[in-house]
Amino acid sequence: MPRIEFEPKLDFKDVLLRPKRSTLKSRADVDLDREYIFRNSKATYTGVPVVASNMDTVGTFEMASALNNHKMFTTIHKHYSVDEWKAFAASVPVETFNNLAISSGISENDWNKLNEVIKALPQLKCICLDVANGYSESFVDFIRRVREAYPTHTIMAGNVVTGEMVEELILSGADIVKVGIGPGSVCTTRKKAGVGYPQLSAVLECADAAHGLNGHVMSDGGCSNPGDVAKAFGAGADFVMIGGLFAGHDQSGGDLIEHNGKKFKLFYGMSSDTAMKKHHGSVAEYRASEGKTVTIPYRGDVNCTVQDILGGIRSACTYTGSKQLKELAKRATFIRVTQQTNDMYVPFEVPTLPSQSK
Ligand code: 5GP
Repeated sequence: MPRIEFEPKLDFKDVLLRPKRSTLKSRADVDLDREYIFRNSKATYTGVPVVASNMDTVGTFEMASALNNHKMFTTIHKHYSVDEWKAFAASVPVETFNNLAISSGISENDWNKLNEVIKALPQLKCICLDVANGYSESFVDFIRRVREAYPTHTIMAGNVVTGEMVEELILSGADIVKVGIGPGSVCTTRKKAGVGYPQLSAVLECADAAHGLNGHVMSDGGCSNPGDVAKAFGAGADFVMIGGLFAGHDQSGGDLIEHNGKKFKLFYGMSSDTAMKKHHGSVAEYRASEGKTVTIPYRGDVNCTVQDILGGIRSACTYTGSKQLKELAKRATFIRVTQQTNDMYVPFEVPTLPSQSK
């Protein structure tokens, strides 16, 4: 008989962080650096754990260079050729490689290319294994295979949304488990398949499972403003991955489109018709596309958005009395709310143009 879980599960929109008494004088006092030692690779990471998604419109080489200046991380999308990887490596300082991962799927072609790039670039130390459904046995087998071949590389793997599968992936060799099914800005899985899990609860539950094994989690998807990023950290995410918030910039992929004198950029899900036609020639017959395509206003240099996001996290830390990002999850109390914002003047808002925000 089908079962129903009645315990409420929450999304970012269902909660706010409760302010707490604090001795912090200013946002500038907040330290956003985190240091982690990964369970399986034993590697050490230091940086600001906000991550650009491995979508081909977000996780580009240009994005990695820009985010590296802020000690932020980029998972590079899997569609660059080996030669493109080599050319990129020759054009950037090697420290850039401390803040990026190569992405891979789990096909034989993916495996061969992964090996080829890693062989050519020994400075590449982090691998992001990404499938839409991280619950399959073949995914677990693939993680084992990669872990065996690369015992000291850090492996990110996902996506899943429940504690027992987080444990399985960590015990199979993953260091960081990506959490999120269906929350993405250009994802349609919840509509097409009816499958998903509210992201705040998924992060809370998965972080608890991972931390019990000395593993780490990355909240992936559903952050539609800097406040959501702060909430994800507050829920226990060690890393927060972002797609849509980083789209539409100079450093993002996707065609620039001019319409009635205004600039837009194309942004699409990695399983949208657009992505499947671009990378595979067509949408395979057995599957429905589970991503959408949008044109979003062009937003200029990503550095402005980075300041906005980091400023938001700093502010959340200040309000909760967290001198370091590390303290945010310990100090966070979420309050269940029925309204996030006062939308009285939303229809009259003056848009921030790229030239104004620079
Ligand atoms: P965002 O930050 O835009 O809300 O979410 C980004 C995340 O959405 C990505 O990192 C990835 O996990 C997920 N995603 C990207 N493309 C697709 C897609 O086509 N379908 C689904 N289901 N998820 C996607």
